[in-house]
Amino acid sequence: MPTVKAAVCHEFGTPLSVENVQIRAPEMGEIEVTLEACAICHSDISYAGGAWGDSLPAVYGHEAAGKITSVGGGVRGLAEGDSVVVTLIRACGNCVCCAGGTPTLCETPYDGDLGPLKTADGGKLHRAMACGAFAEKVVVDQRQVVKIAEDIPKDAAALLACGVITGVGAVVNAAKLTAGQDVVVIGAGGVGLNAIQGARIAGARRIVAVDMSEEKLAIAKEFGATAGVLATGDKPWRDAKAAIGAVRMR
Ligand SMILES: [Zn+2]
Ligand SMILES: [Zn+2]
Repeated sequence: MPTVKAAVCHEFGTPLSVENVQIRAPEMGEIEVTLEACAICHSDISYAGGAWGDSLPAVYGHEAAGKITSVGGGVRGLAEGDSVVVTLIRACGNCVCCAGGTPTLCETPYDGDLGPLKTADGGKLHRAMACGAFAEKVVVDQRQVVKIAEDIPKDAAALLACGVITGVGAVVNAAKLTAGQDVVVIGAGGVGLNAIQGARIAGARRIVAVDMSEEKLAIAKEFGATAGVLATGDKPWRDAKAAIGAVRMR
Protein backbone atom coordinates (compact mmCIF):
# COMPACT_ATOMS: atom_id res chain seq x y z
CA MET A 1 0.00 0.00 0.00
CA PRO A 2 1.34 3.53 -0.72
CA THR A 3 2.67 5.48 2.22
CA VAL A 4 2.42 9.17 3.05
CA LYS A 5 3.64 11.29 5.93
CA ALA A 6 1.00 12.15 8.53
CA ALA A 7 0.92 13.77 11.97
CA VAL A 8 -0.29 10.97 14.25
CA CYS A 9 -1.68 11.26 17.77
CA HIS A 10 -0.63 8.21 19.82
CA GLU A 11 -1.52 9.56 23.24
CA PHE A 12 -3.85 12.45 24.16
CA GLY A 13 -2.07 15.58 25.32
CA THR A 14 1.31 14.67 23.80
CA PRO A 15 2.94 16.10 20.66
CA LEU A 16 1.79 14.61 17.35
CA SER A 17 4.33 12.33 15.68
CA VAL A 18 5.11 12.92 11.99
CA GLU A 19 5.56 9.46 10.51
CA ASN A 20 4.84 7.31 7.50
CA VAL A 21 1.36 5.79 7.34
CA GLN A 22 -0.38 3.64 4.76
CA ILE A 23 -3.22 5.02 2.68
CA ARG A 24 -5.24 2.86 0.32
CA ALA A 25 -6.30 3.87 -3.17
CA PRO A 26 -9.72 5.48 -3.66
CA GLU A 27 -12.60 3.02 -3.97
CA MET A 28 -16.10 3.46 -5.41
CA GLY A 29 -17.21 7.08 -5.07
CA GLU A 30 -13.94 8.21 -3.51
CA ILE A 31 -11.09 10.47 -4.62
CA GLU A 32 -7.52 10.98 -3.51
CA VAL A 33 -6.42 14.55 -2.89
CA THR A 34 -2.78 15.58 -2.52
CA LEU A 35 -2.98 18.38 0.02
CA GLU A 36 -1.30 21.76 -0.26
CA ALA A 37 -2.77 23.31 2.91
CA CYS A 38 -4.57 22.24 6.07
CA ALA A 39 -5.76 24.62 8.77
CA ILE A 40 -5.57 23.79 12.47
CA CYS A 41 -9.08 24.14 13.90
CA HIS A 42 -9.65 24.30 17.63
CA SER A 43 -11.57 21.03 17.32
CA ASP A 44 -8.33 19.35 16.23
CA ILE A 45 -6.60 20.71 19.32
CA SER A 46 -9.47 19.55 21.54
CA TYR A 47 -9.42 16.06 20.01
CA ALA A 48 -5.63 15.77 20.36
CA GLY A 49 -5.93 16.92 23.97
CA GLY A 50 -8.41 14.14 24.71
CA ALA A 51 -11.44 16.40 25.28
CA TRP A 52 -13.72 14.11 23.31
CA GLY A 53 -11.99 10.76 23.70
CA ASP A 54 -12.28 8.57 20.60
CA SER A 55 -10.00 5.98 19.06
CA LEU A 56 -6.16 6.10 19.05
CA PRO A 57 -3.82 6.27 17.24
CA ALA A 58 -5.52 8.90 15.12
CA VAL A 59 -4.91 11.47 12.41
CA TYR A 60 -6.81 14.76 12.84
CA GLY A 61 -7.16 17.69 10.41
CA HIS A 62 -10.41 18.53 8.67
CA GLU A 63 -9.99 21.87 6.84
CA ALA A 64 -7.86 21.24 3.78
CA ALA A 65 -7.32 22.05 0.13
CA GLY A 66 -5.28 20.52 -2.65
CA LYS A 67 -5.46 18.82 -6.01
CA ILE A 68 -7.10 15.55 -7.01
CA THR A 69 -4.46 12.95 -7.84
CA SER A 70 -6.60 9.82 -8.23
CA VAL A 71 -10.28 9.11 -8.84
CA GLY A 72 -12.23 5.97 -7.87
CA GLY A 73 -15.09 4.43 -9.82
CA GLY A 74 -18.47 6.13 -10.01
CA VAL A 75 -17.11 9.63 -9.38
CA ARG A 76 -18.85 12.32 -11.41
CA GLY A 77 -17.84 15.89 -12.15
CA LEU A 78 -14.32 15.60 -10.71
CA ALA A 79 -11.07 14.72 -12.42
CA GLU A 80 -7.36 14.41 -11.72
CA GLY A 81 -5.75 17.85 -11.50
CA ASP A 82 -8.86 19.62 -10.17
CA SER A 83 -8.29 22.00 -7.25
CA VAL A 84 -10.66 21.20 -4.37
CA VAL A 85 -11.54 22.08 -0.80
CA VAL A 86 -11.78 19.00 1.47
CA THR A 87 -14.26 19.12 4.34
CA LEU A 88 -15.25 16.92 7.27
CA ILE A 89 -18.90 17.16 6.26
CA ARG A 90 -19.74 13.76 4.88
CA ALA A 91 -23.18 13.00 3.45
CA CYS A 92 -24.33 9.50 2.48
CA GLY A 93 -26.84 10.86 -0.03
CA ASN A 94 -29.48 8.29 0.92
CA CYS A 95 -30.71 8.80 4.50
CA VAL A 96 -33.80 10.83 5.42
CA CYS A 97 -31.76 14.01 6.04
CA CYS A 98 -29.76 13.71 2.82
CA ALA A 99 -32.86 12.92 0.77
CA GLY A 100 -34.72 15.77 2.48
CA GLY A 101 -32.21 18.40 1.42
CA THR A 102 -30.23 18.74 4.66
CA PRO A 103 -27.10 16.69 3.91
CA THR A 104 -25.14 18.39 6.70
CA LEU A 105 -27.40 16.51 9.15
CA CYS A 106 -26.63 13.11 7.54
CA GLU A 107 -27.55 10.34 9.99
CA THR A 108 -25.47 7.51 8.52
CA PRO A 109 -22.72 6.77 11.05
CA TYR A 110 -19.09 6.71 9.93
CA ASP A 111 -16.42 4.59 11.62
CA GLY A 112 -12.99 6.21 11.24
CA ASP A 113 -11.30 2.97 12.41
CA LEU A 114 -12.40 1.40 9.12
CA GLY A 115 -11.18 4.26 6.91
CA PRO A 116 -8.38 4.28 4.33
CA LEU A 117 -5.50 4.73 6.81
CA LYS A 118 -3.29 2.18 8.53
CA THR A 119 -0.09 2.55 10.52
CA ALA A 120 3.19 1.82 8.69
CA ASP A 121 3.12 -1.77 9.97
CA GLY A 122 -0.51 -2.31 8.93
CA GLY A 123 -2.15 -1.66 12.31
CA LYS A 124 -5.37 0.24 13.01
CA LEU A 125 -5.15 4.01 12.44
CA HIS A 126 -8.24 6.11 13.14
CA ARG A 127 -9.16 8.70 10.53
CA ALA A 128 -10.76 11.43 12.61
CA MET A 129 -13.76 13.41 11.37
CA ALA A 130 -13.84 11.36 8.14
CA CYS A 131 -10.88 13.43 6.97
CA GLY A 132 -7.44 12.80 8.52
CA ALA A 133 -6.02 15.80 6.73
CA PHE A 134 -2.86 16.31 8.83
CA ALA A 135 -1.24 14.28 6.07
CA GLU A 136 0.24 14.63 2.61
CA LYS A 137 -2.85 13.00 1.07
CA VAL A 138 -6.43 12.10 1.94
CA VAL A 139 -8.81 9.62 0.38
CA VAL A 140 -12.34 10.92 0.92
CA ASP A 141 -15.85 10.52 -0.42
CA GLN A 142 -16.53 12.63 -3.50
CA ARG A 143 -19.25 14.48 -1.54
CA GLN A 144 -16.59 15.82 0.84
CA VAL A 145 -14.94 18.02 -1.77
CA VAL A 146 -15.89 21.14 -3.67
CA LYS A 147 -14.10 22.12 -6.82
CA ILE A 148 -12.54 25.60 -6.73
CA ALA A 149 -10.72 27.84 -9.18
CA GLU A 150 -7.07 26.98 -9.60
CA ASP A 151 -5.86 30.45 -8.69
CA ILE A 152 -7.48 30.62 -5.23
CA PRO A 153 -4.63 30.25 -2.70
CA LYS A 154 -5.03 26.87 -1.00
CA ASP A 155 -4.21 28.18 2.47
CA ALA A 156 -7.18 30.56 2.24
CA ALA A 157 -9.44 28.04 0.49
CA ALA A 158 -8.86 25.47 3.26
CA LEU A 159 -10.67 27.73 5.74
CA LEU A 160 -13.88 27.33 3.75
CA ALA A 161 -14.09 23.71 4.91
CA CYS A 162 -15.03 24.47 8.52
CA GLY A 163 -14.44 27.93 10.04
CA VAL A 164 -15.99 30.00 7.26
CA ILE A 165 -19.08 27.84 6.76
CA THR A 166 -19.62 27.56 10.53
CA GLY A 167 -19.67 31.33 10.93
CA VAL A 168 -21.57 32.22 7.77
CA GLY A 169 -23.96 29.29 8.32
CA ALA A 170 -24.71 30.45 11.87
CA VAL A 171 -25.95 33.76 10.49
CA VAL A 172 -27.59 32.70 7.25
CA ASN A 173 -28.96 29.21 8.07
CA ALA A 174 -29.36 29.09 11.85
CA ALA A 175 -30.25 32.72 12.71
CA LYS A 176 -31.80 33.31 9.28
CA LEU A 177 -30.70 36.93 9.37
CA THR A 178 -32.33 39.03 6.68
CA ALA A 179 -31.27 42.32 5.12
CA GLY A 180 -31.69 45.34 7.38
CA GLN A 181 -31.54 43.47 10.68
CA ASP A 182 -29.00 44.33 13.40
CA VAL A 183 -26.67 41.73 14.87
CA VAL A 184 -24.27 41.39 17.80
CA VAL A 185 -21.47 38.84 17.41
CA ILE A 186 -19.77 37.80 20.65
CA GLY A 187 -16.20 36.69 20.03
CA ALA A 188 -14.20 37.77 16.98
CA GLY A 189 -12.08 34.66 16.49
CA GLY A 190 -12.07 32.45 13.40
CA VAL A 191 -15.77 31.57 13.54
CA GLY A 192 -16.88 34.97 14.87
CA LEU A 193 -15.15 36.87 12.07
CA ASN A 194 -16.98 34.72 9.58
CA ALA A 195 -20.29 35.31 11.36
CA ILE A 196 -19.55 39.02 10.93
CA GLN A 197 -18.66 38.49 7.29
CA GLY A 198 -21.85 36.41 6.84
CA ALA A 199 -23.94 39.18 8.41
CA ARG A 200 -22.40 41.69 6.03
CA ILE A 201 -23.08 39.44 3.03
CA ALA A 202 -26.68 38.90 4.23
CA GLY A 203 -27.18 42.68 4.34
CA ALA A 204 -27.25 43.36 8.09
CA ARG A 205 -27.62 47.02 9.09
CA ARG A 206 -25.53 47.28 12.23
CA ILE A 207 -22.99 44.60 13.08
CA VAL A 208 -21.54 44.90 16.57
CA ALA A 209 -18.47 42.82 17.41
CA VAL A 210 -17.72 42.05 21.06
CA ASP A 211 -14.30 40.75 22.07
CA MET A 212 -11.67 40.90 24.82
CA SER A 213 -9.00 42.22 22.44
CA GLU A 214 -8.71 45.59 20.71
CA GLU A 215 -6.67 43.95 17.98
CA LYS A 216 -9.47 41.50 17.18
CA LEU A 217 -12.03 44.29 17.17
CA ALA A 218 -9.93 46.10 14.57
CA ILE A 219 -9.86 42.97 12.40
CA ALA A 220 -13.62 42.57 12.94
CA LYS A 221 -14.15 45.96 11.32
CA GLU A 222 -12.16 44.82 8.28
CA PHE A 223 -14.60 41.86 8.05
CA GLY A 224 -17.65 44.14 8.15
CA ALA A 225 -18.39 45.03 11.77
CA THR A 226 -19.83 48.54 12.09
CA ALA A 227 -18.88 48.87 15.75
CA GLY A 228 -16.64 47.14 18.25
CA VAL A 229 -17.22 46.69 21.98
CA LEU A 230 -14.41 45.73 24.33
CA ALA A 231 -15.73 43.03 26.65
CA THR A 232 -13.19 43.82 29.36
CA GLY A 233 -15.02 47.05 30.20
CA ASP A 234 -17.71 47.50 32.84
CA LYS A 235 -21.06 46.06 31.69
CA PRO A 236 -20.14 45.75 28.01
CA TRP A 237 -23.72 44.79 27.11
CA ARG A 238 -24.66 48.44 27.64
CA ASP A 239 -22.13 49.50 25.00
CA ALA A 240 -23.40 46.79 22.66
CA LYS A 241 -26.98 48.02 23.07
CA ALA A 242 -25.90 51.59 22.47
CA ALA A 243 -24.02 50.52 19.33
CA ILE A 244 -27.14 48.95 17.83
CA GLY A 245 -29.15 52.01 18.73
CA ALA A 246 -31.24 50.33 21.44
CA VAL A 247 -32.50 52.30 24.44
CA ARG A 248 -29.84 52.30 27.10
CA MET A 249 -30.96 50.12 30.03
CA ARG A 250 -30.36 51.11 33.62
ZN1 LIG B 1 -13.16 22.75 12.37
ZN1 LIG C 1 -27.12 10.80 4.79
